[in-house]
Amino acid sequence: MSLPPHFSYRAGHLFIEDVSVASIAERFGTPTYVYSRSALLDAYRLYADALQGRTARGGALVCYAIKANSNLAILNLFARAGAGFDIVSGGELERVLAAGGSPDKVIFSGVGKTRVEMRQALKVGIGCFNIESRSEAGQLSDVATSMGVTAPVSLRINPDVDARTHPYIATGLKESKFGIAYADAIQAYDEVSRLEGLSVIGIDCHIGSQLLDDGPLLDALDKLIDLVDALEARGIAIAHLDLGGGVGIDYGDGDSSATIDVSDYLHRVFDRVDRWRDRRHDGKPIKLLFEPGRSLVGNAGALLMRTLVLKPGITKNFAVVDAAMNDLLRPALYDAWHAMVPAKEASSASMLTWEIVGPVCESGDWLARARPLALDEGDLIAALSAGAYGMTMASNYNTRPRAAEVVVDGSMVHGVRDREESRQLFAGEHLLP
Ligand SMILES: *Cc1c(COP(=O)(O)O)cnc(C)c1O
Repeated sequence: MSLPPHFSYRAGHLFIEDVSVASIAERFGTPTYVYSRSALLDAYRLYADALQGRTARGGALVCYAIKANSNLAILNLFARAGAGFDIVSGGELERVLAAGGSPDKVIFSGVGKTRVEMRQALKVGIGCFNIESRSEAGQLSDVATSMGVTAPVSLRINPDVDARTHPYIATGLKESKFGIAYADAIQAYDEVSRLEGLSVIGIDCHIGSQLLDDGPLLDALDKLIDLVDALEARGIAIAHLDLGGGVGIDYGDGDSSATIDVSDYLHRVFDRVDRWRDRRHDGKPIKLLFEPGRSLVGNAGALLMRTLVLKPGITKNFAVVDAAMNDLLRPALYDAWHAMVPAKEASSASMLTWEIVGPVCESGDWLARARPLALDEGDLIAALSAGAYGMTMASNYNTRPRAAEVVVDGSMVHGVRDREESRQLFAGEHLLP
């Protein structure tokens, strides 16, 4: 199996950049999330390099979808590299600001925003609200008017294309809870553009996650292009087009090895957009936004864990580890596959087939199934490609403190989040009188 970039075996020991995972586990304990700084920046640069030189065409911006991994160190790294951010809550907005992100590069997505969140975002002057219903537009109009400000808005349109991904992460079909139906789009724009306190500036979509080919994304683009033409014909100017995120990563499972090549995909988008603008709009610029989450962070991270007990059985062999579904939910939630690799390479002669499971009291608490590994109790193993939707989906189920997080930069190791302590978990609880 090939390891993700910046992960390697050196003399039989698993390294992330120039640091052995064993030394990280020694110092920080387990379970611990580790991320490669170079892998994070390389992934960002794939987008940034492709988007360079778009200025004359209206410019372009990467708005990192922070729900994939919202550690402040990672947000700060991307902010310093020039990224904007896509957020889905007021809490995420606070994170972006605390990490040094500029509010004018923030896009606020999500199917339900509270008035408190709207006010908070208007107060700091975010770049755009991605609105998902007419009702929401009405509420934002009320809030903005009461504050005497104008809210920049884009409407999230559901282009009704099949992203051909897991049903829980497909978001662009008619029956999805997300976005405004394609057939209602023009009417929605007509209504929203007449509301006080709003300034319509964009159009957006986000059709799903972990997409393995760019066909559906380009289909969605074509549908948005037709809408922009129809809107401009009605006098509604659209300054930016936001294609959302969704680019899949290679999880090492064989199925995802032929995933989307970021720069190919972006160049296909530019090609279509430029031909369209030249043909029907005399080359008039339009700004392009992208909201990648997983593809910026997924392959940069791993979850380190140790085996607690081995339970070889008649039909299955269970390896119970000190990480669980509360640390890495993706297998339980989406049947997701993560490569499980040992910190120390072993000979295949001693391998058995293991079910890697956590200590949580749920049969759904599994991290990997049927993996050939040579395991002893106390061994250190790593779940790879766990940088996206890993830590951000972690919970305290079973009163389990959340894992520590570490960033490796060359031969340096930086703790970027302390392991939680149990007493923090019930610090806000109160006894009855
Ligand atoms: C989750 C999300 C993204 C990021 O999706 P990825 O598949 O991680 O790239 C982008 N935009 C919106 C609106 C989202 O909800």
